[in-house]
Amino acid sequence: MLKNDLLDQWDRDHFFHPSTHLAQHARGESPNRIITGGKGVHIEDRDGNRLLDAFAGLYCVNVGYGRTEIAEAIAAQAKELAYYHAYVGHGTEASVTLAKMVLERAPKHMSKVYFGLGGSDANETNVKLVWYYNNILGRPEKKKIISRWRGYHGSGLVTGSLTGLKLFHDKFDLPLDRILHTEAPYYFRRPDLAMSEADFVAHCVAALEAMIDREGADTIAAFIGEPVLGTGGIVPPPAGYWAAIQAVLDRHDILLIADEVVTGFGRLGSMFGSDHYGMTPDIITIAKGLTSAYAPLSGSIFSAKVWAVLERGTDENGPIGHGWTYSAHPIGAAAGVANLKLIDSLSLVKNAGETGAYLNAAMKSALGEHARVGDVRGEGMLCAVEFVEDRETRRFFDPARKIGPAVAAALLKRGVIARAMPQGDILGFAPPLCLTRAEVDEVVGKTADAVAEVLG
Ligand code: PMP
Repeated sequence: MLKNDLLDQWDRDHFFHPSTHLAQHARGESPNRIITGGKGVHIEDRDGNRLLDAFAGLYCVNVGYGRTEIAEAIAAQAKELAYYHAYVGHGTEASVTLAKMVLERAPKHMSKVYFGLGGSDANETNVKLVWYYNNILGRPEKKKIISRWRGYHGSGLVTGSLTGLKLFHDKFDLPLDRILHTEAPYYFRRPDLAMSEADFVAHCVAALEAMIDREGADTIAAFIGEPVLGTGGIVPPPAGYWAAIQAVLDRHDILLIADEVVTGFGRLGSMFGSDHYGMTPDIITIAKGLTSAYAPLSGSIFSAKVWAVLERGTDENGPIGHGWTYSAHPIGAAAGVANLKLIDSLSLVKNAGETGAYLNAAMKSALGEHARVGDVRGEGMLCAVEFVEDRETRRFFDPARKIGPAVAAALLKRGVIARAMPQGDILGFAPPLCLTRAEVDEVVGKTADAVAEVLG
């Protein structure tokens, strides 16, 4: 093992970390943390700290750390056949089996799955194939994609454009043309406190209708949304939101892409968020929970309706001009098969629903009445606490005070990892789906202590 100070130096000198203040990191002004191991819901760092990871990495280690079943499946695949491509009809037992397992779990009207590597490239695939779809249907103008402010769909050029967070646009010359953003279904931040949930849904629908009218439905190809807004603040939709949005999309022949990178494979207590909210998407994006991050793998699941047009396109034009070297990588696929089996055998979808409800109820009862807490919300194994300076008027803290990060740091000191969400003073929880009630009690108790330390 390298000496700590040497590793520290190499890290500061050579490693370009994602989503990091590059200058502060290089100057050694912000902490670095080298993670050395993980077991169940805990990780360990090189300094010997054992931390309860209540964010499952980046909401992805859904089965928990240290699952030997998945590690062994990966090792067996690497020994047998580490790689072969999936072009021109090639595959492996793992990739074909995983495709079948994904479709068995997906909503019934879905037909085929394309495998990529991560959520960003899967959404890139989705946009590209939606454009292809409309070209094959003879609608070359129908290409714009509507996303939501606070949506998160990746950080590439198209996907960073879809993401509705300024940090991902400013100074990167994004968003690109053809990408539009509409209202986030964020009831706590409704424009008028007097609005009921139903009023607010009507307001979101009216904003969408106005955008479609303004742009022209014949220019809009698809609407993309996470069933529950994730990185934008962990925000479940108000009641009736998805049914109302879907009705508008259907009326204008606009495809629905459900980005289930976070919600797919059980996080909400249902196999998919689409099932949970009664959505009928044309395309579903999957990643994170597909392999519980034991290996990189993502997917785009296409409905029978979209698939029929893609087939027609290749009859007319030849093989689809799309694919990555690592599409359906056998090691990712082997991890996926073992992971989905574990999710079943450990009943993790059920646990996410039941223990997730317990987590949300416990967090509400511990912090719901705190003078500086404006909202405690969540669904399944997703939970968020939003801090405000004044509950009555819903006055937010000055962002410069960095209240969210301060609470996250106070919690980390107590041995629990939660995430200060990137926009607003929001503390997010997305634990592994195997979390127990005793672990919920620990997370909630320590969160209450951390909030008391920072906010009284
Ligand atoms: N979609 C959603 C909903 C996500 O949460 C994320 C990542 N947090 C992505 C897409 C992008 O995935 P990746 O970081 O694997 O590219």
